[in-house]
Amino acid sequence: MKTAVYPGSFDPVTLGHLDIIERSSRIVDELVVGVLNNSSKNPLFSMEERVNMLKEVTSHLSNVRIESFDGLLVDFAVRCHANVVVRGLRAITDFEYELQMSQTNRIMCPKLDTIFLTTDLKYAYLSSSIVREMAHYGGDISAFVPAAIIERVLEKFI
Ligand code: ADP
Repeated sequence: MKTAVYPGSFDPVTLGHLDIIERSSRIVDELVVGVLNNSSKNPLFSMEERVNMLKEVTSHLSNVRIESFDGLLVDFAVRCHANVVVRGLRAITDFEYELQMSQTNRIMCPKLDTIFLTTDLKYAYLSSSIVREMAHYGGDISAFVPAAIIERVLEKFI
């Protein structure tokens, strides 16, 4: 059984994230989306909100579950019995950090491999911070986030 973890902040989940979740869930038996509780970041959405939004937009995927974690990714992966980490690559600017992280994680946990899925071209520009910025100025975010969460994102800025 191949279990993978897909970690991130998901503040909030975007169509780019959802695309990576759908594609990687077809490659592995089980995918655990890990929502990071990162004390150095001050998220717009609470952990509960981020987890609930992810649960809602992935409810059609039977082999995907959503969990929160803090601390080291390798420890979370071991707890999930995962041998694979999934990350998305949008542009060359993502590459250097991702390479460094995946190498560090392999040194800490040699059985843990990272696979990278390249973004669907239509989401190459998309990030949670772009969504937050557009929503802040009342922009139309329907091309950026799943329809089910549009209102919740906009409500944050009322
Ligand atoms: P982090 O804070 O770890 O970067 P994010 O929630 O921003 O968390 O992203 C989680 C993962 O999803 C990262 O691997 C990131 O590269 C990937 N990702 C984010 N946006 C996109 C997108 N538009 N297309 C493909 N992958 C993406």
